[in-house]
Amino acid sequence: MFKPTVRVKAEGDVKVHKRGAPSSRYPHRLNFYDNPPTLDITLDEFETAALTRLRVLTYLEALSQRSLPPAQLSSTLAAYLKQHLPLSSNTARSADLEAERRLDAIGHWVLRLSFARSPELRARFVRAETALFKHRFETDDAAERAHFLASLQLAWDTVGDTEKSHFARELRATMWWAKEDAFAAETWFKVPWASVPDLVAQRRVFVRKGMAYVPQSMQISLVLQAFSARLEAALELTAKNLPRLDEDERLAPVIDHLASSFLSGLAGAEFTPSDSTALVTAEMVDDVARKHFPPCMLNLYERLKRDHHLKHFGRLQLGLFLKGIGLPLDEALVFWRRMYGAAMSDDKFNKEYRYNIRHSYGQEGRRANYPPRSCQQILTSHQPGTQDAHGCPFRHFGPDNLQTLLASYRIERGSAEMKDIMDSVKASAYHVACTRLFEVTRGIKRGEGVGGGESVTHPNTFTKRSQEIESERLEAAKA
Ligand code: SF4
Repeated sequence: MFKPTVRVKAEGDVKVHKRGAPSSRYPHRLNFYDNPPTLDITLDEFETAALTRLRVLTYLEALSQRSLPPAQLSSTLAAYLKQHLPLSSNTARSADLEAERRLDAIGHWVLRLSFARSPELRARFVRAETALFKHRFETDDAAERAHFLASLQLAWDTVGDTEKSHFARELRATMWWAKEDAFAAETWFKVPWASVPDLVAQRRVFVRKGMAYVPQSMQISLVLQAFSARLEAALELTAKNLPRLDEDERLAPVIDHLASSFLSGLAGAEFTPSDSTALVTAEMVDDVARKHFPPCMLNLYERLKRDHHLKHFGRLQLGLFLKGIGLPLDEALVFWRRMYGAAMSDDKFNKEYRYNIRHSYGQEGRRANYPPRSCQQILTSHQPGTQDAHGCPFRHFGPDNLQTLLASYRIERGSAEMKDIMDSVKASAYHVACTRLFEVTRGIKRGEGVGGGESVTHPNTFTKRSQEIESERLEAAKA
């Protein structure tokens, strides 16, 4: 099992990588991750590599839920990987191949530790990693891919000429679409049929005596099957050894956190208001809410308007969000005072609420500037009870209440859009449902998300992007 030697980054830690030529540690761009990295890893690097890969895998899961055409899915993923987890081919002279491949390998191995702990996590990890490998395999340089495959020494039985002629009719039937000379030039492998269930189910291979005859042109199925089978076996082994790792008090919390992020379908996301964030006054909140709030915040706001009251976690969720959209402290005090209404005396407000509002703006107590809560935090922590209004409606509402809330976004019951959203909710892909809502209500092409194909991972990003789109359209209309 991979048992990292982690050290805390020391001052003066400078890594020197020779750009260009691949090292003997990572000779290929593609990797089956058979050998764990035997290196010193700083705690920083351990976390960074894992979080980077986690973002990629959750992004990939979200993309595959969004029913994009294959070409659009591939190009969107390629653009994302280029930015977040680039992996250049051996011929890319200006890339730091060693650094890229090291980050890739460490991220994979750390996540293995996180996701080995339950069958559900293992299955999702294998699915996501296999999809990532598939994308890289399909987009790899052909010569480098061939070298990589040769290095794996996969035990595939090549079908000889005599056997090929003997079964020519059956083999031809599985390649009916190919020209005669392409069929004649094809090489075939014989493998147990269970190792290519997708090809057998689609009747794309000839099966005899438990063996499937797979043409080289369908080699990818064999490679992916080998990749996922090895990874599954390795995860089972890791799971057995996990108790030993739980003793390490520096690594265990990081590993636990990664697993819960993956279960929520989201890597942690942060939101920092930019200097250009426009100020919002108490007066303006209602207008911004109607036009730009995501369902979690719209629900809280409507409940506050109706009941003149919110419980602790509801106040916290909405209050920090409002701070993030640009409501300054003095306006926040005006806003909350107004919302509590005449039923609450000034005295009570000052004694019980004023302090907490100032506290959340870093003006009392430890004077910490608390950030607005991300979707991951809202989805996974402080599960709401029946009387609570906090949480994420996509996760915490029943189907009927959710559809009623979505109707306030003018999404009709029974419409294709509503079905799309509810399908994602059924698949527990809550942020995908929210992203679809964003696309539908802002008239954005499917797959665009909140920009560049990104899913909604933070309520403040939802609102900020919605406001930007509105401004862009107003500008365009003026022009
Ligand atoms: S997915 Fe995030 S932004 Fe959307 S409703 Fe849920 S918590 Fe709010």
